[in-house]
Amino acid sequence: MRLLADLVLTPDGWRRDVAVTVTGGRIAALEPPSASRAGDVVLRGRGLLPGTINAHCHTFQSLLRGLGDDLDFAGWRDRVLYPFSERLDRDGIALGAAFAFAEMLRSGVTTCVDFFYLNDAGNDNALAVIGAARMVGIRLVLARTMYDWEGAPKRYRETPVEAARRVRELIAAHRGDPTVDVHAAPHSPHGASPAMIRAGWEVAEAEHVPMHVHVAEGRYEGEGTLREHGATPVRHLDRLGVLGTRTIAVHAVWLDDEEIALMGKRRAGLAYCPSSNMFLGDGVTRLPELLRAGVRAGLGTDGGCTNNRLSVFEEMRMASLLQRVRLLDGGALPATTTFALGTESAAAILGVDAGRIEPGRLADLVAVDLGHPSLHPPTNLLANIVFAMSPQAITDVWVHGERVVDEGRLTRLSQDELVARVAALTRDWRV
Ligand SMILES: [Zn+2]
Repeated sequence: MRLLADLVLTPDGWRRDVAVTVTGGRIAALEPPSASRAGDVVLRGRGLLPGTINAHCHTFQSLLRGLGDDLDFAGWRDRVLYPFSERLDRDGIALGAAFAFAEMLRSGVTTCVDFFYLNDAGNDNALAVIGAARMVGIRLVLARTMYDWEGAPKRYRETPVEAARRVRELIAAHRGDPTVDVHAAPHSPHGASPAMIRAGWEVAEAEHVPMHVHVAEGRYEGEGTLREHGATPVRHLDRLGVLGTRTIAVHAVWLDDEEIALMGKRRAGLAYCPSSNMFLGDGVTRLPELLRAGVRAGLGTDGGCTNNRLSVFEEMRMASLLQRVRLLDGGALPATTTFALGTESAAAILGVDAGRIEPGRLADLVAVDLGHPSLHPPTNLLANIVFAMSPQAITDVWVHGERVVDEGRLTRLSQDELVARVAALTRDWRV
């Protein structure tokens, strides 16, 4: 298959008159379009971009959207997250995942990390999420959570030994899978004991996968970790020996200067979720300082009830604006840096071969309507995509070379049916 768009965003910038050849789910070549061939997909008036990568999400939370929008974190967790996540059986989990994946695809997300913790002491629920990703057609990183804090609902909890065994089984079952990766994810310094966090690290080391962990999201967490373990969250992870290139720290809002330097020194990764941090009133991660220290970063939406949109283009805009206002500097996070955070930089920390349109990479692509008013005037098209683009400008999406959104419509399933099922499931839900 060849995709012929008016403009293609390559590592060398925008190019005209270039055909993108796709074979076996990957980009095989970028070449001048010769005479038309059978199987050519002509995208007139379209620009082709790498698909975006959502480095942190909890898909089932899309079903909880609107239930606790004006609560603080503790209120949201105790009155919304815990009680309503208890209502979801395996079908509900799969429905929530499909609902979230569908929204993401239509927003130009081609890879999603689902940090998944409704495990019910097994892997069947995680497998239901994986099944939903296959059905909708999105690339999935299932960050299989390991949780043992006794204050959380029982269905989240396991012992370190059980959790480690199950994560390894799930990784083994999906090794070599073309569209699904499984990573280890001890929940956080407050949700996982030192033994659990160590167990997560050991699985990640043995299986050569990243380790995701929530870190320093709220101020209370730093105070709690200091009280319980005698160290602030990043120092706590470092003392446990789990801060390294495999680590993907989620949020990292409340770090002191030494912790920022430490994350950089260890070449740790960051999944930065600006909208969620604003929505919950968490604070502002010092992203430019972390990047300067050597931290590698991607952008995440977090769950659908703490954002409440699932668009990485939106996170690009929010990331940049938030740093500008924090630092009182309009140049604090330029469009090109921000775009990379939502594409190739996130791909790099996840070890997913996507995020750039070049031969050898996965064919995960987004087409935008170059005639859409939100992209005009096209003086600086990339900046328009980051700061101005309306979601309606996103027309088509390919994952692993398959067109999963066609002229704004999902190709694998009916959006109307999906919405009707979500409405039926949540009809009586009130806080
Ligand atoms: Zn999270």
